[in-house]
Amino acid sequence: MFALNFNNTAMHIFYGKVALIAYLKTIKTTNSTIGFVPTMGALHQGHLALMQRSLKENDDTVVSIFVNPTQFNNPEDLAKYPRTLEEDVKKMRGLSDKMILYAPSVEDIYEGKTISQDFDFDGLENQMEGKFRPGHFNGVGTIVKRLFEIVTPTNAYFGEKDFQQLQIVKKMVEKNHMPVNVVGCPIFREDNQLAMSSRNERLTAEERKEAAIIYQTLTEAKEIFKTKSPEETLEFVENSFKDNPRFELEYFVIADESTLLPIENKINDKKYRAFIAVFVNSIRLIDTISLN
Ligand code: AMP
Repeated sequence: MFALNFNNTAMHIFYGKVALIAYLKTIKTTNSTIGFVPTMGALHQGHLALMQRSLKENDDTVVSIFVNPTQFNNPEDLAKYPRTLEEDVKKMRGLSDKMILYAPSVEDIYEGKTISQDFDFDGLENQMEGKFRPGHFNGVGTIVKRLFEIVTPTNAYFGEKDFQQLQIVKKMVEKNHMPVNVVGCPIFREDNQLAMSSRNERLTAEERKEAAIIYQTLTEAKEIFKTKSPEETLEFVENSFKDNPRFELEYFVIADESTLLPIENKINDKKYRAFIAVFVNSIRLIDTISLN
């Protein structure tokens, strides 16, 4: 265990699971709760909001920072993923020095076998991110299950920005009978409404400004969907991106919020959500919006 000291405050930082598990044993009591916020670092306000919620709702909060190799299908994306541990620690400290940080190595998690387990998420894994990033959700399932086993959280906090991931984690917990309450949290956005993401760091100032088109298109699509069909809404979105060649639309899908299956027709009383993935100069950004 390492306690980093800044201005007389200390935050517990663990790089290995054995020491973390031993420490958690010392602080756990019969009725105490552990909140957990798994992240890949390069922390922004969206991550900090999850931590704030966990701090409010639990006796102790564990945050993990781990760029999980098995969930990356694109080696360039993995290599270029921002790694800013020192900055991240400062941001966490700015929020509270009471959090426990677990920042493991690949070896500490995978013990020499950096491969994913195969999961069946009842089809949730076959749409959108699963379709365009083969193996991604097996990687997500593998790391989240491993982290839940190590941290044994009472409550685990995930952002709705990765809505499909949130549904998949809920499914994994249910299927594996894990005693964890999975909590979905709202999307944090930049001033121009671009969803906050660690990948935004890789955009130029101009790209970042213009990336406002993603959420703007989603909100316009939401309006159109009120009176038009899913197909006509998709047409509108495709045309918006054709007019902006800097942005390459990978997918726009309107899906049933619970099954994540794309819809052809609207049925009253079903909850729908639009999902989008866009490339900007080979940087991949995703966003989502509830449609009703
Ligand atoms: P990541 O570090 O990108 O793996 O994200 C870690 C957690 O933070 C995941 O549960 C994400 O859904 C969540 N998250 C990422 N960006 C945002 C955002 N803009 N607003 C809310 N939650 C977010």
